[in-house]
Amino acid sequence: MAALQCRTKIVATLGPASSTYEVIRDLTLAGADVFRFNFSHGSHEDHAARHKIVRQVEAELGRPIGILADVQGPKLRVGVFAEGRVVLEQGAPFRLDLDPTPGDTTRVNLPHHEIIAAARPGSALLLDDGKLKLTVTHVGPDFLDTEVTFGGPLSNRKGVNVPDVVLPIPALTEKDRADLAFALDLGVDYVALSFVQRVEDVLEAKTLTDGRAWIMTKLEKPQAMDNLEAILAASDAVMVARGDLGVELPPEAVPLAQKRIIRLARTLGKPVVVATQMLESMISAPTPTRAEASDVATAVFDGADAVMLSAESAAGQYPREAVTIMNRIVQRVEADAGWRTLMQAGRLEPEHYVADAIAGAAQQVAATIGASAIIAYTHTGPTALRVARERPMSPILGVTPTIDTARRLAVVWGVQPRVSNPDKPVRDAETMVSTALDIAIGGGFTKPEESIVIAAGMPFGVSGSTNTLRVAKAPKAAG
Ligand code: PGA
Ligand code: MN
Repeated sequence: MAALQCRTKIVATLGPASSTYEVIRDLTLAGADVFRFNFSHGSHEDHAARHKIVRQVEAELGRPIGILADVQGPKLRVGVFAEGRVVLEQGAPFRLDLDPTPGDTTRVNLPHHEIIAAARPGSALLLDDGKLKLTVTHVGPDFLDTEVTFGGPLSNRKGVNVPDVVLPIPALTEKDRADLAFALDLGVDYVALSFVQRVEDVLEAKTLTDGRAWIMTKLEKPQAMDNLEAILAASDAVMVARGDLGVELPPEAVPLAQKRIIRLARTLGKPVVVATQMLESMISAPTPTRAEASDVATAVFDGADAVMLSAESAAGQYPREAVTIMNRIVQRVEADAGWRTLMQAGRLEPEHYVADAIAGAAQQVAATIGASAIIAYTHTGPTALRVARERPMSPILGVTPTIDTARRLAVVWGVQPRVSNPDKPVRDAETMVSTALDIAIGGGFTKPEESIVIAAGMPFGVSGSTNTLRVAKAPKAAG
């Protein structure tokens, strides 16, 4: 049986632990709405194979599924180890060099001459999300000698952060451009941009993407937090990428950054995903810590659009359990009266657009009459996004003529995407009402004589023209 769909969506990263048809289908049934392909790992063939399976599951279950291509960005990483993994001892010397030969406990490849050029004796290098720390003792022409300040296990291609050094590196690397072109040809729905520092980074990706996917900006650099308003305004969606953000910022700064990003994204009506370490201990345990459960709950209480799993679903031992438990935590919070009160109390002033006036009114009318659903007709997404921005308690059905839009809406708070019947195009008020009722009744949202609220733009098919609010009532039961 499929898990109950929640308002807050679940993004699950696919990887070696979740590449088969059986696992991907189970993750979907357990409540995953969006699958993330992490282009930091795996080959194009791996991603193409997963893409094919996700689309197959989507067709079988009849539920639009979003696919997020996460391009690596100028993420700095060490190379590989002969044994796949080493343990670095505190106080030991360790060399980072430009030699791609697999490493051992004395050295490893660091394929970034920029770091070697910019580092100075005393510079700190943080490895694997800051779990290990190296301090540079000597800078050579093509290597850095370091001393292990905090040791521990280090495996292939773990990340490197250099908080004290400004690195002159572009936002989209050559690899990113190739991955982006590949992902767009594959037909992904959103592209996540890593290590964005400036609004220009987002604009460049938008130009390259040319509307073929939404741009989801990952906020993981302190520099981006200084330009947050402009970066959010230029993005289609954002991710609170707490892994790298939390390495470059002190731990105590992360919760406030998370709340600030969510608040601003909600104000602008841009989907916001909270990511990284949400159920981290489930990589190797079948149940989460209670602190992790609270972390997921906090994101739901904050009104985030989605919560995300990384290694828990991609490489851990319990991918099914991770999605199942995440879904249960979300469901439990959303059943709570306190959560409802918060969603209503946290509602935002409408921005000065007709679409917002309509969305606000739809929410109010739906609440007043206890509507069984709000139907948002949307061509490219804005009407559904503006209704979702109101965080209404009635389910939102995002009805669109294109599967591309339906898939994008999979990440949006509270929106259940539906593709309208191509044989019955919605062109006038009459078919608008009858189609909305068909979908609401057929989906089990609306019973005889219950009301629905419809938000739409007329004429149909013109993007950005939300101007219509309509209430309709399901007919009496036959007989
Ligand atoms: P990553 O991004 O998993 O690609 O590093 C997320 C994060 O940094 O939190
Ligand atoms: Mn990151």
